[in-house]
This record gives sequence, C-alpha cells and structure tokens, in this order.
Amino acid sequence: METKQFKAESKRLLDIMINSIYTHREIFLRELISNSSDAIDKIYYKALTDDSLTFEKDNYYINIIPDKESRTLKICDTGIGMTKDELENNLGVIAKSGSLQFKKENEVEDGHDIIGQFGVGFYSAFLVAKEVTVISKAFGSDKAYKWQSKGADGYIIEPCEKDSIGTEIVLNIKDNTEDENFDEYLDEYRLKSIIKRYSDFIRYPIKMDVTKSKLKEGSESEYEEYNEEEVVNSMVPIWRKNKRELKDEDYDNFYVEKHFGFDKPLKHIHISVDGMVSYNSILYIPEKAPFDFYTKDYEKGLELYSSGVMIMEKCADLLPDYFSFVKGIVDSEDFSLNISREILQHDRQLKLIAKNIKTKIKNELEGLLKNEREKYEEFYKSFGSQLKYGVYSDFGANKDVLQDLLMFYSSKEKKLVTLDEYVSRMKEEQKYIYYASGESYERIEKLPQTELLLDKGYEILYFIDDVDEFAIKMLANYKEKEFKSVSSSDLGIDTEENEMKTSDEDNKLFESMKELLKDKVKEVKASKKLKKHPVCLSNEGELSIEMEKVLNAMPNNPSLKADKVLEININHEVFDALKDAHEKDEEKFKLYTDLLYNQALLIEGLSIGDPVEFTNNICKIMK
Ligand code: ADP
Ligand code: MG
Repeated sequence: METKQFKAESKRLLDIMINSIYTHREIFLRELISNSSDAIDKIYYKALTDDSLTFEKDNYYINIIPDKESRTLKICDTGIGMTKDELENNLGVIAKSGSLQFKKENEVEDGHDIIGQFGVGFYSAFLVAKEVTVISKAFGSDKAYKWQSKGADGYIIEPCEKDSIGTEIVLNIKDNTEDENFDEYLDEYRLKSIIKRYSDFIRYPIKMDVTKSKLKEGSESEYEEYNEEEVVNSMVPIWRKNKRELKDEDYDNFYVEKHFGFDKPLKHIHISVDGMVSYNSILYIPEKAPFDFYTKDYEKGLELYSSGVMIMEKCADLLPDYFSFVKGIVDSEDFSLNISREILQHDRQLKLIAKNIKTKIKNELEGLLKNEREKYEEFYKSFGSQLKYGVYSDFGANKDVLQDLLMFYSSKEKKLVTLDEYVSRMKEEQKYIYYASGESYERIEKLPQTELLLDKGYEILYFIDDVDEFAIKMLANYKEKEFKSVSSSDLGIDTEENEMKTSDEDNKLFESMKELLKDKVKEVKASKKLKKHPVCLSNEGELSIEMEKVLNAMPNNPSLKADKVLEININHEVFDALKDAHEKDEEKFKLYTDLLYNQALLIEGLSIGDPVEFTNNICKIMK
C-alpha cells in the first residue's frame, strides 16, 4: 500500500505543531472529544430533518477506552462518520476549518507565528501518539475505511471492517522519555480528570469503564475489583439551565466545584444574551480576596467555553483590571475551538462580550450598594482598593465607571459613605470635598489641621489606604466639587473671622524661623485653620505629605519631597513665648523653632531627623 504524502504546507506545520505549539499535551483529548461531539451533532441534525431516521438518544455517545497492555487509547463515537474521501480531505490536509484560508491571508515567514495563530484540532493526537489510526464508517455508506499515520511522514487509507456507523480513533501512545511520562494518558483517573476539566459540558455522554471495588460475596473484609461503565461528564452546564430552575445553592456549589474560591460568593450574575453577540455566563463577586490578590502572582480572567468545550482557563481580556476579582465562565458559540490567545485579543465578539460583562458587573455592584449596603461594605473591605487603583490607573480613563462605587470613612457618620452622600449634604457655602490622610482613623481624628473644618461642621473623609489620595487626585472632582486636603496650606475658607492679622514684627519672626529651618520648609506662616493647637504642617502644590510617605516607601525610592509649610497658631500662648524669645534670647528662639518644627513632624506621622537632639531639647526647657 502506497503511503500518501501530506500536502507540503501541512507537513511543515505538522512538524512544528508537534514539537512546539502546545505546552499542555493533555488538550489532545479535548480536541478529539469535541470532534466526536461535532460528528454526533451532524447525525443528530440529520435525524431531525430526515424522516427515514429516528433519533434514539441513548444511541449517541462517546466512549473512551484506555488499554495499558497494548498501550492504546481509543476514542469512539456514534457520530456521522467519514467516507474515504472525507478521511482523505479532512485528515490529509491541515485545517479544514478555515485555518488554511486564514494562514494564506496572514502569511508569515516564521512558522512559529503561523502556528501560534491557530490550533490544529485532530493533529493534536500526535502530541501523545506515535501512530494514529482512524476507523470510520459514514452514515449512508456500507463500507468502512481505515486511515493510519505515524505523523509527518504521510498516511495510508484502506478498506476495513466496522459494524456500526461512527468513528473510532486509536492512539498508539508514545513511550515514556526521560522528561515526559506518557503512561498517564492510559491512566483511568488521569483521563477522567482531563475529561472533567475540559469536556465536562459536552452535550453527549462520555463513557468510560472505571475500576471499582466491592466486598467479595460472602466475605466481610475481602474486596474484589470490578469494572463499571460510568458517564464521566455532567453534560448540561449550569449556565445553560433556566435561571428559574436554579437555587442560590446551585450557584454556590458550582463556585466551589470550579475552585473559584474558598469563600461563599457574595453575589452571582447569570447572563444569557442573544443578539449582536450570543453568550451565556455565570459570574461571581467573591466575598473575600484570595491571599495573593494584591500581589503580582494573581491572574485575572474568566473561563472561556465554546459550545460547552473549555478553550481557555483564564481569558484575561474578558475582564478589566479593576474588576479582576470577578470569577466565572463565559460560553459562546461564536468562538472557534482552535482560536488562540493572539487572535482572541483582537476578536470583535470578545470585545463586545467584555464590554457587556463590564456593564453587568458595574450594575450589579451599584445594585448591591443601593439595596444591600452591608454586603457591599463587606465587598468593599476586600476589593475597595482594587476599585481605587482602577480610578488611578490608565490616567483616570475609567473614573466615570468607578466613582460612584467608591466609599470613604466619614468624620460625621463614623462609617463608610459614598461621594454622592457626601456631596448631597454639603453645607451651602462649602466649596470643597475635604479629606484628611493618615495611618488610622484614630490618628486622623486628632490631626490639628481638621480643627477649623470640624468647627464649621464640615464633613471630612478619612483616607487610610495608600492609594486613596492618588485616586482622588486623578478624579480631581466629583459632581463639580473639587477635593481638598485638610493639610493644604489654603483651605479655601476666607471669611473675615479667620483673617489673621499679623504685624511686621510677626512677619519678621516667621522669616527668622524660616532662615533657621532652611530647606526643611518652604514657608512659615500664621495659621488660619488652627484653633487649640499651636502648630501644624500643611503643604503647597500637587504632592502631599501623605503621598511623599507612600512614594518614599516604594522599593526604588524616588525620594520626592512635598512642599511643606509650617503653620503657627498666633492666638496660642506658645506664640507669645516665641515672640518673647525672638526679642530677647536668640538661643531660646532657636530651641523653640526646632521644637515646634519637630512637633509638627510628629503630628504628621513623619520621622524627625534627630530624635536624641529633640529629647535633649525638651529636657533643656524643663530646666
Ligand atoms: P475542526 O474540528 O476545527 O474542523 P479538526 O482538525 O479537529 O478541525 O478536524 C478536521 C475535520 O475532520 C473535522 O472538521 C471533521 O470533518 C473531521 N473529523 C474529525 N474527527 C471526526 C470524527 N470523530 N467524526 C467525524 N468527522 C471527524
Ligand atoms: Mg476539531
């Protein structure tokens, strides 16, 4: 029998494919099972449209038969089968499914690129097999044929015997090598887990004989093994079921089954869309962040299925970064099984689905915030930072999507509030949304900078998350109200009562202090915001003191400095002492300046340059 050659380009591609394309050899089974499923679909369709055929559901299935002794793995189906011509055309040329056409349109010199852009279905059998035999009898034909190939060398086709219609694929599994163990593809448990993983939702039963053990008859302790046929896949995916038939519990179970998380999901979203794009999806908003969520190791993405067959475990393009905590699956018939990551990225359907999903998640979160506040706060505790990063990143491109989902702790409510809530109860004359940054709510509460604002009954948002101020700077304003830090040197409250009248003497004093402090501060001035405290720091310009702290804590320390202003309360007794010293005792004035400056640093949570000197100075004034 003459061995026929694969068409030239097929041969080259086959070589490359076998050696490089797939890192996961196990996907061969997914490919072959999906071909079987397609073949059953075809005969199913025939039965529906051809009166001479009756469709007996039980007659259609896929059978997986491993045999360790002969080192073969069989994949049998009761599908439509292939004629001699079809065997030749479908298996003799690579990429019947438009891939070849695609390749022509996208001719690239380097084979890796070509291959990287599509998978090669049936040929993936050679990832694990040294020889592949296909025995097939087509519907409407009384002859069966055998196709056989050892890979790139070519193939033979010859008549053979087969009773029933359908296809049987026999893989002669490769021998183990030093690096790779091919035995696993003959192992019942391993095969079962591969099927579960990739083909769980194939519409037809995937049957396999599995070994079980039972008590020997008449014995109470001796077991014997026996074989029993089992349907390995669960067939109807939950996302195809009617929402009304499903209970919360079903969704929770699926979450656990899929290993989406150890927590109980806070919310599920079940989507069925038919229109510009068609897809089914189940999404989950988890309650707790996985331990690696805020690290580089965390990979976002949804499982992507094409007609019940998993084609990607984590399709990142389906989720924006700021919703990276969402788990779930998307199933769409619009994707070909062999679509690669590179193609997917540019796929229009995928983009539409992603956009759709983004809106659904946003609406769901807004609904949660509105109707189930406690749950939302729970969610926000876990993932609020991610939303704030989302506002900050991409130069604020997504702030409109996210701003209404943000929450901050309020000086007034003593709990998290939304920006909308803040703005809606702002005082009439209040120009800004005020915020204060610090390490903890307790520390912020005591910041002298907040005195005036609290006195006026203004609400202040407390920022304790590193990202807060960065996000707010990106947001710039909310409902036309700008944000303002309580540490800003100008709070924007210029009423008469706060006009601080300073004399020439006072101004000279401030100048002398500035001279002593040199570059440490940009200015020393009379404070408009202090009431009871003698001193505080404020800042001018874009970079705040809190931001300086965050940036300087980063690994490649950019050592940026905020422009600091030392504010003195001229109505405080301490100021009188300061004036006195300025007039009479230069040493004392130096000492006081130093003390006040360091105090201001401490209040701000900044470290003081020389703690020993500071404590010595305190001792000096005690004498
Ligand atoms: P695709 O499935 O994308 O078309 P494959 O390389 O997986 O590409 O398969 C090539 C073709 O071979 C299929 O389109 C189908 O016509 C045929 N084929 C493969 N396996 C079977 C099978 N089990 N039964 C019938 N036809 C099959
Ligand atoms: Mg296929």
